[in-house]
Amino acid sequence: MNTTRRIVLPILVSAGILACAGPNGYSELRAEPRWKALIVDGQNNHGNWPQTTDMMKGYLKATGLFSVDIARTAPQGEDPAFRPEFAKYQVVVSNYNGAPWPAETRKAFVDYVSAGGGFVVVHAANNAFGDWSEYNTMIGLGGWGGRNEKSGPYVFVDERGQVVRDAKPGPGGHHGPQHPFLIVTRDGDHPITRGMPAAWMHVQDELYDFLRGPGENLKILATAFADPAKGGSGRHEPMLMVLEYGKGRVFHTPMGHGNNSQSCSGFIACLQRGAEWAASGAVTQELPEDFPTADGVSERKP
Ligand code: ZN
Repeated sequence: MNTTRRIVLPILVSAGILACAGPNGYSELRAEPRWKALIVDGQNNHGNWPQTTDMMKGYLKATGLFSVDIARTAPQGEDPAFRPEFAKYQVVVSNYNGAPWPAETRKAFVDYVSAGGGFVVVHAANNAFGDWSEYNTMIGLGGWGGRNEKSGPYVFVDERGQVVRDAKPGPGGHHGPQHPFLIVTRDGDHPITRGMPAAWMHVQDELYDFLRGPGENLKILATAFADPAKGGSGRHEPMLMVLEYGKGRVFHTPMGHGNNSQSCSGFIACLQRGAEWAASGAVTQELPEDFPTADGVSERKP
């Protein structure tokens, strides 16, 4: 019996690292993912949702930090069998915009986030569940789904960099034609944005504007100017947001319409970092070498 091995192996295992024999016979060290992530999908007005789910699953797994499961509803209508075990996961990523979940599933999800679960909201997931007040508190801001002044104020950033809450009546959610746009970091001290450039170009996407909602416990980390010349609101619109809901952490980005939008190295890094922060409250990932600059987009071709 090798004494060193008997001592060392339990330490490695307790650190989340398994020793195993590689195909070449040499011993290798392999990190086990620290966090369990669940992507919820199954219905969406974006027909590319199966592809974006696969892309996001790949991005999370590529960090080495996450194992990823998918919970999928029936293709249409309320699905009484949709009952994911949210509590098994440290973070839930929503790529869902469809029929209401069963009441028990909604309650289980509220309980999960309240108790400290992480939640990541991507693009049209903020169109979902316009009538579900707890969901709207979690995501802070949303669009479409019947949202209007009863949902909460429009929240955006003005020319002085101040957050504005505008209770004026009107529908929530709008975008002009897709185009590449500049993301401006508003809070570079947050774990998600730390080290990011002051501004960087995002690949062609829908620039969601006129989002509205309760906006409680909401911190805007980055914005994009919705240029009226591009059909936008003329406001600096939230693009990276974090919220607290009970003990839970929520990361919300309205970016990510198309497969090309989700191929932006900036989007990918924000998703990876946002999911880690939502799961753990910290970010251990370095910014990738190909993170975009203010001078041009950076797209990863599959
Ligand atoms: Zn879209």
